[in-house]
Amino acid sequence: MASLQLKNVYKVYPSGVTAVTDFNLDIEDKEFIVFVGPSGCGKSTTLRMIAGLEEISAGELWIDGELVNNRAPKDRNIAMVFQNYALYPHMTLYDNMAFGLKLRKVPKDIIDQKVKEAARILGIEQYLSRKPKALSGGQRQRVSLGRALVREPKVFLLDEPLSNLDAKLRSQMRTEITKLHNRLATTFIYVTHDQVEAMTMGTRIVVMKDGFMQQVDTPINLYDYPINQFVAGFIGTPQMNFFTAKLTGTPDKVYVEFGTDKVLLPAKKVAAIKDLDAYLNTDKEVTFGIRPEDIHDEPAWLKSKNPKLTVKVDVIEALGSETLLYCKTMAAAHDAESIDSIVDDVSNLVAKVDSRSYTKTGDTIEVALDVIHCHLFDKETEMTILNRDLSIAAPSQLPVTEAPETIKPIKE
Ligand code: ADP
Repeated sequence: MASLQLKNVYKVYPSGVTAVTDFNLDIEDKEFIVFVGPSGCGKSTTLRMIAGLEEISAGELWIDGELVNNRAPKDRNIAMVFQNYALYPHMTLYDNMAFGLKLRKVPKDIIDQKVKEAARILGIEQYLSRKPKALSGGQRQRVSLGRALVREPKVFLLDEPLSNLDAKLRSQMRTEITKLHNRLATTFIYVTHDQVEAMTMGTRIVVMKDGFMQQVDTPINLYDYPINQFVAGFIGTPQMNFFTAKLTGTPDKVYVEFGTDKVLLPAKKVAAIKDLDAYLNTDKEVTFGIRPEDIHDEPAWLKSKNPKLTVKVDVIEALGSETLLYCKTMAAAHDAESIDSIVDDVSNLVAKVDSRSYTKTGDTIEVALDVIHCHLFDKETEMTILNRDLSIAAPSQLPVTEAPETIKPIKE
């Protein structure tokens, strides 16, 4: 159990690459912090500085109130789990898990107790006499978690631990790691490029880009209140749709205009705009963002008062649980008429609709926008221009539908 503080931390590699710039974070005891971002954004470097495997170029790292910049990795009471498991191939699982404790001259009976306890928690007791090569990827990763577990560290550092596993095993291990965190009640710091892992596991997520922290927040706040366009695009699949737009109208009737479309914003959304005067009927452009799941083709939505767009459906992906419609707005469809190459023929709107949608490829349809959940960014700075309004976030503004009259209770 430990709290950590990173204060103005930088990493400049000898090659001159600045991998991490001014990283500031207070991590509370028992948190599950996830560092997420595209490859090369500095996640692993930050984790390795916490572990003591990389020197901190500038700034301070505090663990439980102690400055540890110059403390050797073995003295930081931290355990690290790697993507490639880093197991000793010639040793049994038991010896792999016991190895670190043997080096520390822990008495044999205590080692035995700890290894067996860790193996029990991780469900690998029956494999303890095997060597790593006789195990599946998931089992190997459990051993490498077990090796960390027996040390009873203050902090667990996990560097893309699930990247070598197939999709099914990854989701299983995700829940296992979450359960392990709940059970151990220890601080976890987890690095991944996979936003699904970040969203499902983290109590707080640090989104990084090019060595800079972008936003630190809970998963749901990152989803509902992305601070900038990068975070908005990074969190959520398929990614948020973006349109360069202008705000027009009057203060009590504000429209978002893009292409040949014009969308009326609800008064609540307008009230959340930080500096409406700067954008309303001026040259200053905004980026209008709407998530695929906030675009609907169901009849109930089309009958609602929510604004509609007419779009042309290019491609349909029926995924079973949901259907993705890759569409073009009317302006984009018009522009695309002269495009020959399929590479340049880009759909500019993706909708995630009900899997029982009747929409067909090539259709021109109306879609309704759940516009209360839209996002607005300054075109130039890419920062959000919306204040947080907790009443706007969940639950979704579903249109009111009347209950069918024909359903009768089974027993009168
Ligand atoms: P991530 O974990 O987010 O993929 P890294 O922390 O591994 O990113 O790398 C961040 C940046 O630092 C990248 O530009 C990478 O090329 C660079 N980098 C990483 N390790 C070294 C190193 N040992 N020497 C020089 N540059 C490095």
